[in-house]
Amino acid sequence: LYVKHPLGAGQPLALSRDQAHYLFNVMRLGPGEAVAVFNGLDGAWLTRVAEADKRGGTLECVRQIAPQHDPPDLWLLFAPIKKARTDFIVEKATELGVARIIPVQTRFTNSERIRQDRLQAHAVEAAEQCGATFVPEVAALERLDRLLAGWDDGRRILWADEGLAQGTGLGGLPHGAWAVLIGPEGGFAESERTRLAALPYVHPVSLGPRILRADTAAVAALTLWQAHLGD
Ligand code: SAM
Repeated sequence: LYVKHPLGAGQPLALSRDQAHYLFNVMRLGPGEAVAVFNGLDGAWLTRVAEADKRGGTLECVRQIAPQHDPPDLWLLFAPIKKARTDFIVEKATELGVARIIPVQTRFTNSERIRQDRLQAHAVEAAEQCGATFVPEVAALERLDRLLAGWDDGRRILWADEGLAQGTGLGGLPHGAWAVLIGPEGGFAESERTRLAALPYVHPVSLGPRILRADTAAVAALTLWQAHLGD
């Protein structure tokens, strides 16, 4: 269970209504029963139910059961697509291990808006489900040109584009701070390609000879990066 409290032995953790509903009505837990919690900073902790109430309740921290494990310094930049597929991308990026997720608006991105809170909640659920001790931050939607204008060039970008010749792999690329960039269903515009290709910290990558859907491409590119440069 993800909580926003500091964790330490004896620390009481007040539950929200939704958390209490999940633990006591859905999971049918009662006083004294064990619940593993994490807050994104202090690893995983064993807690016990101290008070159970339909509208709230309290857990009490017992001891740390796993150290904090942060993902590599990898961000995902992706152009939001249809709702369910965007949710899928956030979920899979969290499972595969990214530190930050930035939805980007490109020339051919159809969605003008995203529900940042909803996507953040998906990241929390995905982290809970896969036993991670870290939840990536989902940032607000940002225009690609603005993002690149303010980019810290110490962070490299792995730019996935189906228009590339084969063989532009990851061999020999350095470890460190990275972002994976995935385009929308309509792909990148030529002007965006020209701009990206001219930036020294941008490394193009092909994910094979077939055109993948954006959600498949996000999973494939993150997996490829993790296999070569992750920990
Ligand atoms: N514009 C394309 C078309 O309709 O021909 C399709 C774009 S694709 C559905 C969405 C995004 O997934 C692309 O912008 C790219 O980032 C990524 N992608 C898809 N297939 C890829 C491949 N074979 N290699 C690298 N990236 C790929």
